Amino acid sequence: MLTAGEQVLFLVLALLSAAATLAGLCDMWRIVRRGERELALDGLASRLRDTLTASLLQRKTLRMRKLTSWLHLGVVWGFSFYALVNLGDLLEGYVPGYHFPAREGLLAELYRLAADLLSVAVLVGVLWFVLRRALRPWRAELQFPSNVLLHPKARAGAISRDSRIVAGFILLHVGARFLGDALAVAGEGGDLARPFASLAAPLFAGVDARGGELLRHLFWWLALGSIALFTPWFPQSKHAHLFMAPLNFLTRPQRRSPGALAPLDFGDESREQFGAAKLEHLDQSQLLDAFACIQCNRCQDVCPATTTGKELSPAALEINKRYEIGGQFVALAAGAESERPLLGSVISESALWACTSCGACTDICPVGNEPMHDILEIRRDQVLMEGNFPAELQAAFNGMERQGNPWGAARDERMRWARGLDIPVPTVEENPGCELLYWTGCAVSHDPRAALTARALVKLLHAAGVNYAVTGERENCSGDVARRAGNEYLYEELARGNVETLNELAPARIVVTCPHCLHNLDSEYPQFGGDYEVVHHTQLLDELGAEGRLPQPPARPGARITFHDPCYLGRHNGVFDSPRRALGSLQGEMVEMPRHRSDSFCCGAGGAQFWKEEEAGSRTVGAERYAEAAASGADIVATGCPFCLQMLESSKGDGVGPVLRDVAELLAEGLPADDSGQEGSAHAG
Ligand code: SF4
Ligand code: SF4
Repeated sequence: MLTAGEQVLFLVLALLSAAATLAGLCDMWRIVRRGERELALDGLASRLRDTLTASLLQRKTLRMRKLTSWLHLGVVWGFSFYALVNLGDLLEGYVPGYHFPAREGLLAELYRLAADLLSVAVLVGVLWFVLRRALRPWRAELQFPSNVLLHPKARAGAISRDSRIVAGFILLHVGARFLGDALAVAGEGGDLARPFASLAAPLFAGVDARGGELLRHLFWWLALGSIALFTPWFPQSKHAHLFMAPLNFLTRPQRRSPGALAPLDFGDESREQFGAAKLEHLDQSQLLDAFACIQCNRCQDVCPATTTGKELSPAALEINKRYEIGGQFVALAAGAESERPLLGSVISESALWACTSCGACTDICPVGNEPMHDILEIRRDQVLMEGNFPAELQAAFNGMERQGNPWGAARDERMRWARGLDIPVPTVEENPGCELLYWTGCAVSHDPRAALTARALVKLLHAAGVNYAVTGERENCSGDVARRAGNEYLYEELARGNVETLNELAPARIVVTCPHCLHNLDSEYPQFGGDYEVVHHTQLLDELGAEGRLPQPPARPGARITFHDPCYLGRHNGVFDSPRRALGSLQGEMVEMPRHRSDSFCCGAGGAQFWKEEEAGSRTVGAERYAEAAASGADIVATGCPFCLQMLESSKGDGVGPVLRDVAELLAEGLPADDSGQEGSAHAG
């Protein structure tokens, strides 16, 4: 128990600390509230459950860097349990003769055992975090490419300094508490419920009663006094994530898909800003992201742009936001305008346009951050407010505006892909009672390579006896390119037009052969009043195969087939199993690339990249992915996206290596070659 003087002193210290910490947290909250779009709190019960699960199980953290992540889990559990331990120690310090939770009995023993094991877990974990900063290859995980824009403070080592301070605090706090336990065990003569403290007890073997009493007080003060000293500093440091990461999970935006963007309100005449030019134009959740970021660089590790040497690092974006906020903390909290535009302070122009919107960063982030959404909001500002975007995108915008497709091809060419087929391909006008509407998308209509997929699919639908029709010339581009490029105004026009058409047609079900069409029709058109049942063709083929309605394709004994998960099919819309099951009918050997399913690596086309030159880097994203596919030993790379096919096929070039095929093409191979070859029936590769 503390002396009366100590009790008063600690109370004063704790009150001062709480006031200073609260002031910092209130400023943080005021800064977050400066943002656009409110934090979401609908469905609070399920949000609370998800937050608790995410915080305690750390599943996302455990997806990579296994050793560090398991040790981090020990620190999380230990620190969470220490909330109880600190409360117990506080009560013991103030209530004479009290033992938390009891002097003896099973509960007391379990508590002592948990405290002992978790103290060691925290100490070992934190020592590892200190050590790994000095050890290759782990050190590399925390570094940034030299061409990435990084705030000068972060570049000068502020992140490491922050980490050292916090590591020092934790070692002091938990270490002192652990030594206090070892001292107690030394005095009591062994405790099976405190195995590690018992091992350390001999350190205090020669300590007499007076010395023991002094040390007991010292360890109490080091353990609890350190909390009072350090907590006011927490809101200023990256370790604010201890509070902010759970809050970030709790208030995440509700999205139909992780890649679904929030619409802009062009009808609001009071609005002077569209997209994000400055910190305060970001959403509240995006400002919270900066405080929640643990600066672990996991998002950077999986980013196709960083991996291929571009200037973009999603981790640097979040860290730059944090340091930009930190540099004007009090002023921002007081409502001042932020000093610098986001472009140039948190992200470079080249990095802004290098994002493929693959979603890997948002998918991997252990605290639920969404750097991709920041990038797309900044693009909106650049396109809508500044008219500043890569010149090549202008042609795609013009094509969508004038002809309803980014190729700029004539509208009446929309059915060209079906020429020469000797099976009927009815339009909705010809078959208004169809059960299934095939929304072909622009690629099929205007890219001869994608046309092969459409031709294969309709042959399969015909063979399976499906009552379908195509939208034909009534289709416009889904607008995906416009939205991902930041041209929300154009996107909204296209989306509203398509929704009007589709609502008029009222299809029972829609099938698409492009994951970008899938994403827009299924996940984003509900924002404009379009709610449809949409499936990707690999899902439909999987279904038809399971019903026994598809002809058996020729067996491919010995063939090794791998499936490349398109980002907008897999990560953004959760379709992973159907294409793999559909490919099962080929009876070849399925192999997986190291990066597959939700860890899949982008082809480099998304985020409007297909319509512009790739930014300078060490290699193209497509080349990186094709090399991975080739290294898997596959003979065939199957996929389900016209843009993935194009990007990977052009990465293959004329060299040797696996061939690229859409799943539909592979399944249709046994069907009669019933077309004239007008659309280039010879496969590339
Ligand atoms: S969406 Fe993909 S390309 Fe863009 S920052 Fe995230 S990981 Fe990188
Ligand atoms: S955004 Fe997420 S994954 Fe990226 S550095 Fe921050 S916490 Fe890590």
